[in-house]
Amino acid sequence: MRANRKRDTGPELRLRSALHRSGLRFRVNHAIRPDAGRMVRPDIVFSRARLAVFVDGCFWHACPEHGTNPRRNSSYWRPKLDRNVVRDRQVDERLSAAGWQVLRIWEHQTVDEAVALVRGAVHADRRRTDHL
Ligand SMILES: [Zn+2]
Repeated sequence: MRANRKRDTGPELRLRSALHRSGLRFRVNHAIRPDAGRMVRPDIVFSRARLAVFVDGCFWHACPEHGTNPRRNSSYWRPKLDRNVVRDRQVDERLSAAGWQVLRIWEHQTVDEAVALVRGAVHADRRRTDHL
């Protein structure tokens, strides 16, 4: 698992600096324990907004547009990639169950798109909180 959750990849770094420039403050490499199970380490965490952001690589997380079936060694890769997807969904469910908002961004999305999604999620939380 370690090997395929690469940190500080290009798309992630670009998103982080764009978010920072837009005035948002967040934690990087921050572990969350949503339940009694294993810790979860989203790529970017907004603690106050309870928002967990993951920047998913198209290959490792089987993006529907670019996560093509690897032809070479497919008997090795296919089950591995399928397990990653199952694990992603489990992490999403555990975080949601603990009251976290989960946002997954594909590495192929533009930085502008990604920033808009994150800002929307941060503000959605603020609106929700205001109405409590
Ligand atoms: Zn993709």
